[in-house]
Amino acid sequence: MSLLVVGSLALDTIETPFGKAERTLGGSATFISVAASYFTQPVRLVGVVGGDFPKKELEYFEEREIDLEGLQIKEDGKTFHWHGKYDYDLNTRESLVTELNVFADFDPIVPESFQKSQYLCLGNIHPALQKKVYEQMQSPKLVVADTMNFWIDGAYDELLEVLKHINVFIINDSEAREISKEANLFKAAKKIQELGPKIVIIKKGEHGALLFYENELFSAPAYPLESIYDPTGAGDSFAGGFIGYLAKTDDISFENMKRAVIFGSTIASFCVEKFSLEGTRELSHLKIKDRFNEFTRFSTFEPAEL
Ligand code: AMP
Repeated sequence: MSLLVVGSLALDTIETPFGKAERTLGGSATFISVAASYFTQPVRLVGVVGGDFPKKELEYFEEREIDLEGLQIKEDGKTFHWHGKYDYDLNTRESLVTELNVFADFDPIVPESFQKSQYLCLGNIHPALQKKVYEQMQSPKLVVADTMNFWIDGAYDELLEVLKHINVFIINDSEAREISKEANLFKAAKKIQELGPKIVIIKKGEHGALLFYENELFSAPAYPLESIYDPTGAGDSFAGGFIGYLAKTDDISFENMKRAVIFGSTIASFCVEKFSLEGTRELSHLKIKDRFNEFTRFSTFEPAEL
């Protein structure tokens, strides 16, 4: 089934205790569309970059069958730039710089050939832009959205407006607490469900994820990794793997969404093993399948009588 992704395309500077990468490829739409492309192709992309965006990265997108018809290239502008820094606790990060650049006056236009896409992923960008994209679509089957604290703090009302239209909201634990103003994640999910999305996924970093599907709950494990170098893009890779698998199977039942959560976690686990996009740039179906199977092996057990 067809999948459309909108979000940021970025040149990131990333600092972790293990190293630094400057002006490397990043952005929510980048991580989402690359992750999704291992499940479904082509992935349709809507976004904007400046004249400084490396041509070789555009070629890479094309190699992965990411359809760039909806990508605007502003030759005179500069690409969105984010500078993030992580301490040894890789679950918390500081945004040192967020330069919107070409995103500041981005007017997203969904090409006519993309408007009937069945699956829509509204990656992390200003919620008003997410809404503009949603409004150009012709009744998508499933709308998934993500956001981050930058927009919860800076565009809360616009975010509430977007929430009314989406089916699946993917956020991390601290963002869930911030939006709902509830410390307990179960209560937070219930409150968010009342704002619109009947399905809420709360990511808990190295502790897995919770899938709230109407009144049902699935607690997904995290893959036990020996080395984590850079968590940047993990959330977006999760979202890309999740929606990519749903678009491939065209099944949005609770049972299939559990599998989608594990495929999302699988791609996220590859993402954090290397810097920026390096962990997911060159994956194979075999690698993904093997790790998915390991997830199952690590987290299943026999029922027991007491
Ligand atoms: P994640 O680690 O999955 O939350 O996403 C990391 C990516 O989000 C980075 O590659 C950044 O370029 C991008 N990013 C950071 N801040 C923002 C923002 N305010 N709006 C859109 N994208 C952002």
